[in-house]
Amino acid sequence: MLEIKDLHAKVEDKAILKGVDLTIAPGEVHAIMGPNGAGKSTLSAVIAGKEGYEVTGGSITFEGRDLLEMEVEERAQAGVLMGFQYPVEIPGVKNVYLLRAALNAKRKAQGLDEIPAPEFMRLIKDKLAFMKMDGAFLQRAVNEGFSGGEKKRNEILQMLVLEPKLALLDEIDSGLDIDAMKVVAEGVNSLRTEDRSILIVTHYQRLLDYIVPDYVHVLIDGRIARSGDKGLALELESRGYDWILEGEHA
Ligand code: ADP
Ligand code: MG
Ligand code: MG
Repeated sequence: MLEIKDLHAKVEDKAILKGVDLTIAPGEVHAIMGPNGAGKSTLSAVIAGKEGYEVTGGSITFEGRDLLEMEVEERAQAGVLMGFQYPVEIPGVKNVYLLRAALNAKRKAQGLDEIPAPEFMRLIKDKLAFMKMDGAFLQRAVNEGFSGGEKKRNEILQMLVLEPKLALLDEIDSGLDIDAMKVVAEGVNSLRTEDRSILIVTHYQRLLDYIVPDYVHVLIDGRIARSGDKGLALELESRGYDWILEGEHA
C-alpha cells in the first residue's frame, strides 16, 4: 500500500529525514517511536503532504501512485489522511460543517453524490456516541477553545467519518488522561480492518498497550535505526533509546 524509499527531507534548510525506508501493507498498524526531534512528525507530515517540508530525495508511492506528485487534498481523496488537517482555529466555521464538507469532497472524488443531511446526522451521532463526545461539540467552531483532549477525540472522529485507507496519527495520546486515552485508543482500534493501514507516531510506549501495533520502528536522527514488534516498544520503555545508538556505533 505505502512504500517509502530512501526518503530525505528538509525543514527550513535543515536536513531532518536522512534516508527513511518503510513499507506498510494493507491492514497493518505500524508505530513510529523515537526521541524528541528525531523527525517523527516530519515523516508523517511529508506523507500527508503538509506544507513547509522539502523532500530532497527518495520516493513515496501509495497504491502504486507517486504520492509526492500529489497535492495534500489529492492525497486525502486518495485515502491518505493525517489527523487534524485544520490545525488552526477557524473562527465561525462549525465543526459539523467541515466534517460534512470533507466527507462530500471524498464522495465526489469517488463519483458519489453528496450525503443526504439526515443520513449524515445519523452517521455523525453514531460516531460521536462511540467517541463519548457531546453533540454540542458539532456546533462549535473548529478548534475554537478545544482542550487538548477534545482535539484528539475530534481527530479520531474525523477518521471514523472519513474512513481513510491510510490513517496517519501523530501523538494522539499527548496530554490525555488515562480515560480519554482509552476512548481514543478504542476509536483507533475500531478503524482497524483488513484493508486499512494505520501509522501511529508516539513518544510513549503506553499508548501501544491499548493499540497493539504489528510493527514498531525506532526513528533516530532521521533514519529508522531498528524495527521490531510490540516487544521492541517494551524494551525501549525499560532501556530508553541510547542502547540502539550504541549498538549502531559498535
Ligand atoms: P519529532 O516529531 O520526532 O519530535 P520533528 O519531526 O517534529 O521531530 O522535528 C525534527 C526536527 O525538525 C527538530 O530538530 C525540529 O526542531 C525541527 N523542526 C520541525 N519542524 C520545524 C519547523 N517548522 N521549523 C524549524 N524546525 C523544525
Ligand atoms: Mg517533537
Ligand atoms: Mg513530533
